[in-house]
Amino acid sequence: MEDKIIEFYYKWDRLEKPNGVDIVDFNLLQKQDNFPGEFHSRQEVKEALLQLIDQYKAFPQKNHFIEAKLTAALYYLNALMGERVDFYEYVEKTMGVRPKYVPEEILQKQLEKVKDLYKEVGYGYSKEEFERFKKENTLSKEEIERDFVKARDIYLPKILAWLNLDIDLQYETQFVNLDVYWMNWTSTDAKGNILLRFNTHPRNAWLRGFPETLAMHEVCGHAIQASSWKQEMHNGNIPISAGLTNVFSPESFTCEGIGDTLSWFYPEQLFSSFGQLAANARNLHVLTLNNAHIMINEGKGKNEIKEYLDTYMPGFEKDETRDKTLDEARNDPLLRTYFYVYGISSYYLVQLAEKLNDEEKKEFVIANYQNILTPQEIIQGHHLQ
Ligand SMILES: [Zn+2]
Repeated sequence: MEDKIIEFYYKWDRLEKPNGVDIVDFNLLQKQDNFPGEFHSRQEVKEALLQLIDQYKAFPQKNHFIEAKLTAALYYLNALMGERVDFYEYVEKTMGVRPKYVPEEILQKQLEKVKDLYKEVGYGYSKEEFERFKKENTLSKEEIERDFVKARDIYLPKILAWLNLDIDLQYETQFVNLDVYWMNWTSTDAKGNILLRFNTHPRNAWLRGFPETLAMHEVCGHAIQASSWKQEMHNGNIPISAGLTNVFSPESFTCEGIGDTLSWFYPEQLFSSFGQLAANARNLHVLTLNNAHIMINEGKGKNEIKEYLDTYMPGFEKDETRDKTLDEARNDPLLRTYFYVYGISSYYLVQLAEKLNDEEKKEFVIANYQNILTPQEIIQGHHLQ
C-alpha cells in the first residue's frame, strides 16, 4: 500500500511538471528510480486516486495524516481540473483546518507590538515612515549573506541543543541572483539533501532583520524538520508514504507554522531588534492577510479589503502586490489554500506558545519534528480557539 501511494505521487508529479505545477515539494525518499511511470492525463490521475483512497480505507495500518493527505490530493486535483468548491470546504479538505477570522483584539495587540518595535529602532508608523525605513534599511547582497550566515551560526547549534535531537542535518545554502519574484526557495536535490536558495536580486527589497527570520524559518524550521522526518521514516516511526511532501496538504500547517513562530517557542530572545521587528511585522502581515483572504473569497470588494490592510500596515506593500495577492487568493488552485495556511497556522501557534510553559513548548516543537501532526491534532489537542 505504501509503495502504491509513493508511486502515485511520482507519476502525478511527472505529468504536471510541464504545466509548471509541482506535486512533490520535498522528496525525502529518493525512490524515483524505482517508480519510473507517468500518468498521461488528469482524468487518469483521478481514477487512480479514487481507487487509492478506496483501498486505503481498508488498509489495516492506516494513518490519519495519510488519509488527510490523500483527501487533499483529490480536492487539489479537482481544482486543477476546473472545479470550484466553497472556500471553507476547500481549505478544510486540503490544509485540514477550517478558515477563521483572526479576532480584532489579537490584531490590535500585535499592531501595538509592531509599532513599539519600529519606535525602538527609530521610526514612526505611517506610510512615509515605512518608506524612510525601506530607504535606510535595504540590504546589499553582501549584507544579506553576512546577516544570514551570522544568524544561522548562532541559532542552529542553540536550537539543536535545546531540542536535543540527534539528527543528521544535511542541507546546502546557495545565494543566487535571479530576476524572479521569489526571495527564498527550499527544495530537495536528487539525493534528498535540502537546498536553501536565497535570491539577492535587487528586484526584491531585503530589509534589515529579514535574514535573521529566514535563518530561523528555513534552517531551524524547514531543514531540521524535514531532516528529522526523513530519519523517522527511515526508523519506521513515520509512514514512508508521507515522504513526498506537498504544499497543498496538511503538512504545510506544521511546516510553515513552526517556521514562522519558532522564536515564540524558544526560551531566549535570539533576534536583534531588527530581527524581532521583522518577525513581528511578518506575523501582523500574515494575520491581516488571513482576514483579507477570507474576505475576498466571501465576495468583498478589493478596494474595501485593501483599505482594511492599509489600516494595519500602511504602505507595507504596493497596491499592485495587494491586487495580485487577492486575485490569487480567490482564483489560484494552489494559493487559494497554501497562501492561507501561513496566517492561520501562526494564529494558532502563537496562541499556543503563549499558554505553554518552557518545558511544554520544547515538547511541542519536538513532537512536530518527530511526527507529522495534523492541524486538528494541534488545535483540538491543545483546546485552541
Ligand atoms: Zn516556509
